[in-house]
Formats: sequence, C-alpha cells, structure tokens
Amino acid sequence: PVRLRVAPSPTGDPHVGTSYMSLFNLAFARQQGGQFILRIEDTDRARFRHDSEKQVFDTLHWLGLTWDEGPDIGGPVGPYRQSERLATYQPYVEKLLREGKAYHCWCSPERLQQMREEQQKNKQPTGYDRLCYGKTEAQRRELPGFSETPVVRMLIPDDVPLEFDDLIRGKVSAPRPDDQVILKADGFPTYHLAVVVDDHEMKVTHVVRGEEWISSTPKHLLLYRWLGLETPKFAHMPLLRNEDKSKISKRKNPAARLTWFVEQGYLPEALVNFLALLAYPPAQDAEGNDVEKFTFAEFSRDFAWEKVNPVGPIFDLKKLEWLNGVYIRDLELGDFTSRLLPYLEREGVLSGNPGLGELGRLQDVAALIQTRISLLKDAVPLVRPFFVGDDMLEIAEDARAGLGEDAKDVLDKAIDVLGDIDDHLVSLVAPSAWNAENIEAKLREAIVDGLGKKARVAFGPIRVAVSGAKISPPLFESMAILGKTSTLARLVALRD
Ligand code: ATP
Ligand code: GLU
Repeated sequence: PVRLRVAPSPTGDPHVGTSYMSLFNLAFARQQGGQFILRIEDTDRARFRHDSEKQVFDTLHWLGLTWDEGPDIGGPVGPYRQSERLATYQPYVEKLLREGKAYHCWCSPERLQQMREEQQKNKQPTGYDRLCYGKTEAQRRELPGFSETPVVRMLIPDDVPLEFDDLIRGKVSAPRPDDQVILKADGFPTYHLAVVVDDHEMKVTHVVRGEEWISSTPKHLLLYRWLGLETPKFAHMPLLRNEDKSKISKRKNPAARLTWFVEQGYLPEALVNFLALLAYPPAQDAEGNDVEKFTFAEFSRDFAWEKVNPVGPIFDLKKLEWLNGVYIRDLELGDFTSRLLPYLEREGVLSGNPGLGELGRLQDVAALIQTRISLLKDAVPLVRPFFVGDDMLEIAEDARAGLGEDAKDVLDKAIDVLGDIDDHLVSLVAPSAWNAENIEAKLREAIVDGLGKKARVAFGPIRVAVSGAKISPPLFESMAILGKTSTLARLVALRD
C-alpha cells in the first residue's frame, strides 16, 4: 500500500502551503487505500515555536485533512516528532562516517561566513571548501576558525547524480550540492538526514513536497544509495505565487497563514476546493464547462499526478472569495446558522451559549443574509442590529449624515401607520399582520403614494433607524424579525 506524509516544521503559524501539500498527499493516499502520516520536523531548535504544533493539528483538522499516524495519535513507526528520534539517526551517521561518506567539520560560523564572503567577492561558486576534510581534530585545531563541537558533513562525490524522475515534472535536473551538514553541533540531524532516515523508517513510498526541495533531492538520493535504502517516488508541487510571481510567504502575505482563513470566515471545504484547483485542472461537465466546485472525495477519486500543473499557480484570493460565496449559498440554513456562531461570539454579538429564542431569531436573520455575504465574518455587522437593545443601536456616521430633510416626515408617517398594525398572533399556522408583506404594503401606501416620495427616499431613513446603517438585510423582513415594539422604538429614537 502507498504511504505518504506531510512534514511541517513547527516554526510559527501553519503555512497555507502545509495544507496544500497535505491535500495532494492525502488525495493520493485515499485514492490508493494507503496511509497518510503527519510528521513534525522540529530539528531547527532556533525557529521552534511551542504553540505551533497544536496549530498545525487544529488547522488541518479544521480542513478535514486528517492523518492515520502522527504525534497526537501515534502509530506503528513512531515517534512522529523528529526531536524524539535522535537515537534513530545516530547509527546512520556513524555508518556514513565509518565508510568515509561523511566527515567531521570544526569550522566556526564566523569562518564559514568569511569563506562565503570571499567566494562571493571572487565570484566563485559558494559552498563548503572542505578545509576540515581529511584532518584529525588535532590537525584542524592548529588552523584558524576552529570550534570545539564539530558538525558532520556528507562528502559529495564529483559524479553525484543530479537527475531524477518526478511524478509531476518528468525528468528533473538539480544543481550540484556542496558538502551538506547532516548532523549539527547540538546533536540534532539536519533536515536532509532526518527526512531520508524517517521516510525510510516510516516506509514512505511517495515523497510529495514543495518545489523548493528539488535542489535537495540529489543529496537525499545519495543518502538513500549510501545507506542502502530503497528510494521512494518524488513529486515536487508548484509553489503558490503572488501576481508578480514571487512565492507567497508568511512574512509578506497575511493569507499565507492558515489561521487567517479561519479568522476571515472561509469555509474549510471551500479552501480545500480552491487549493486543489490551484494546481489541478477542473473536470468538465457534459456540455464541456469546467466544474469548479467539487468535494475532496471527488478530487481524490480522479486524482492523477500527471495532471498536476507544474507551473506555480497565482494565489488568487478574489477567486477564493467567490468560491466561498458559492459554498455559503449552498449550505443548509441550519448549517449556515451554526457556522456563524463562532464569529458572532468572537465579536460579542451573541454569548457562547445562546438560548433557543436567540437561535431562532438568528436563523431568521441568517436566511436574509445567506446570499449576501462571501465571508462568514461579514455576517457580523449585518446580524448585530438584531441582537442589541433598541437604545444601544449605534447609527453609523455616514448613515446619519445621509438622512436628508425628508427624514422626519418619513419617520413620522412610518411610526403612525406601523403603530396601527396588529402584531398579535391570531392563529398558530398563519403569520400575524406584522409581517414583511404587510409592513411593506402599509409603508408604500402611506409614504410612496401618500407623501409622494420615491421609494429610496421613503425607505432610507427607516432602514437607518432599524439597522443603524445605509446597507442592511432586506428591510421589511428585518422589521418583521425585530418585531413591532423594537421597530417602533428605533423609529422614534432616530426621529427624536
Ligand atoms: P515564509 O512563507 O515567510 O517563508 P516560512 O519560512 O515559515 O515562512 P516555510 O517554512 O518556508 O515558510 O514553509 C512552510 C511550509 O509551507 C513548507 O512545507 C513549504 O513547502 C510550504 N510553502 C512555503 N511557501 C509556499 C508557497 N509559496 N506555496 C506552497 N507552499 C509553500
Ligand atoms: N519540513 C519540511 C517543510 O516543512 C518538509 C519538506 C519535505 O516534505 O520533505 O517544508
């Protein structure tokens, strides 16, 4: 069976790239009935962030990209955190040292820095100059730039193979590497050693990762050969790019952080769909139109590596927002309503534990706004007016400024006619007279026909009174939900 893995480094907020890599790994693993592993690559102690691992778990769970083996759930080839596997790497390093494939290097960081600067100045290729190679510790100690604790470097032979087969790209050729460090002074392996040892020990059959690792693959292939290990297949995914073709990065793009998508109110299934579309052509319907909306299961079923586009896709947030809107509109109303809750709670519109009455009202409001938003967080200002006390409703500056001189007449008239509508229920199956249709009819009759005002002029001040804003959910439906008492109180408050 196939075994694939994603191997994020816990260096901060999870990168959207981690979910993108996970998605493609998982799609193939599921299609083939194989396993998907989550491995935490925490060998870079300088960049390690304590809370990062949990964020990786949470965001991938949120996206529904779940793993069969990992640090949180264990599995047959654990531990799944590299920092817990230091003893595993040791014999591999020793074998390489014993067989002359690797050597100790005592060069201090300052000496390496100086070496690089000189290479650059002389326009030489940069890379380790092998000062330590073939020397004993005592011999090396005599020379400048010595540090007490050595690292271990692999000895890259002149004829290192640089070509390899990639499932997406076909034949790939990478530049010649220099003598990479495989074991650091702190006793931790570097990525290059750890990734090879772990992919082997974890029986990974397909290594699917970002294209920035193409240049590292020859080093890894060399390690596989030297250590006598079977090589997995490789697929290097195109990196996600900005319009200017630079790679999206957490330092420059807020949208490179996975938590950002949660905060904004993207639906996980929309983000998964979007990430798939970035590097994969949509299927076509019977008429030959692109089918851009699809589920993970559909994607996984038809997935093929050859179809992945190797060219770095533009990370087009406008398209994602559009797709998110499509997903929002297609949700069941109850589902849509519950997805709003965390956003409303976060902004203090509702408590974490709303009562039945509040939920009922929320669902009524949700029905009014479902087609009007493309991010869940955009629901907050639209919903808030339905959950504030009438005397607490804030009137937006621009809304108040735009009221116009007709406002008072309009509000007077509205208060007058709406006051006459009976809001008592006469039957359990029929609505009361206080309903959207009736409210609209009464207001039109009184203000548009009666006062001879245009609809925009007639209803603008009413909208501002009821919602506090120039833009609101449909007005008459909103008034029906708010109820007669609240509506009248708000009209009076704005008038006076
Ligand atoms: P930055 O994005 O600012 O460079 P970072 O250095 O923390 O932040 P990396 O550690 O380089 O990010 O990447 C984290 C993971 O995300 C890696 O697995 C990498 O392959 C992937 N990744 C990084 N950038 C991209 C990108 N533009 N597109 C797709 N995946 C990416
Ligand atoms: N830790 C590496 C990363 O986050 C893993 C690369 C790989 O999948 O080999 O990019």
